[in-house]
Amino acid sequence: MSVTVEKVDVFFFERPRTTPYLGAGEGEFAIGERYIVREFNGTVYPLTDRSIVVKVTDKHGAVGWGETYGLVAPKAVAAIIQDLLAPYLAMRSFETPEAAWDGLYELQRVRGYWGGYLGDALAALDIAIWDVHARSNGQSLQAALGKGGSGRLEGYVSGIPAPSRQARLDLVREWKAKGFHKVKLPVGHTDNGDVIGEMETLRAGLGDDHEISVDLHWTLTAQETLDLDAALKPIRPWFLEAPTKPEDIEAQRTIARSITAPLAIGEEWRTDWDYRHRLDCCHIIQPEMGHTGITQFARMARLANARGTGILPHATIGLGIFASASLRAALAFGAQGHEFQHTIYTRNAELLDGAAVVEGGYFEIPDTPGHGVTLNGEADNYLTPLVL
Ligand code: MG
Repeated sequence: MSVTVEKVDVFFFERPRTTPYLGAGEGEFAIGERYIVREFNGTVYPLTDRSIVVKVTDKHGAVGWGETYGLVAPKAVAAIIQDLLAPYLAMRSFETPEAAWDGLYELQRVRGYWGGYLGDALAALDIAIWDVHARSNGQSLQAALGKGGSGRLEGYVSGIPAPSRQARLDLVREWKAKGFHKVKLPVGHTDNGDVIGEMETLRAGLGDDHEISVDLHWTLTAQETLDLDAALKPIRPWFLEAPTKPEDIEAQRTIARSITAPLAIGEEWRTDWDYRHRLDCCHIIQPEMGHTGITQFARMARLANARGTGILPHATIGLGIFASASLRAALAFGAQGHEFQHTIYTRNAELLDGAAVVEGGYFEIPDTPGHGVTLNGEADNYLTPLVL
């Protein structure tokens, strides 16, 4: 069935939380009541869970839901959709969701709008369009991507927001007791940035069979990364993530050439062009559905599979629509697992009907139509319609 969009409704999702993502951040720089700037890498984060949600209605009255980042300046994304992308979609029909993405991207490609907030706006619409498309064909998203059926993906515990090294080890042990045997330490969840000491404690406390990785949050140079890699060798990290500045392709390539642990990057990418320039710069890609949408996630995943590069999707702050789409796309393309944001995913999944259950270390992904989730009545409490 061709893609025919009649109407796009845009909503701002915002849900308060007692502790901000990545921890309380005492002493860190706050911008008003909304944002905190993390000291370890200068990145701004919201104090609440927030995202942009879109509802697409097609010319047959069928509905699909999409979602993208709304962490900062969410109305910027909404404005791009409402001023340009939604009206354009309503005037056209496309053979496939991929063709719709290409048509929308083409509108401003020669002005150099290749990513950023435009990419996020495309991602939200793309997820909703794929959802309508698959549902209208009576298919799950994974079936629409070529591999139907239910399945499971191993989740790794992301982030260890606890105030001391011992408390962090205890927290990971709690998850281990629940069946999670993989964990990722963010560089900010250490005592004064002592990654080596923290990793040594985790290895000693968790045993040899636990997978332990570290997210370096773009804080190191190439040489510092290689030095850290050498120092961590006895601990056998599962992977090192995002060690250097995301635009510095040459540094990424230098690291990939000599590192002994697998190098994982890619959570900030919007399109397969971001990956095409870095094919030899990583051993694992970490596409983020909230930035890529399904079309670009699929293109990155096909490139990775053709090269034998691992796929381990990123998970971010949100309601969970893009998380559901990500799990299904990950299943379809044979990802080795999926990031599990234990402080976000489960609590916001309560606002959705049909979200994958996480149990015993695995996401259990059903074969229900589309990306599988719709918003329940509870979600309405946290959604505000945005009108240009
Ligand atoms: Mg990361």
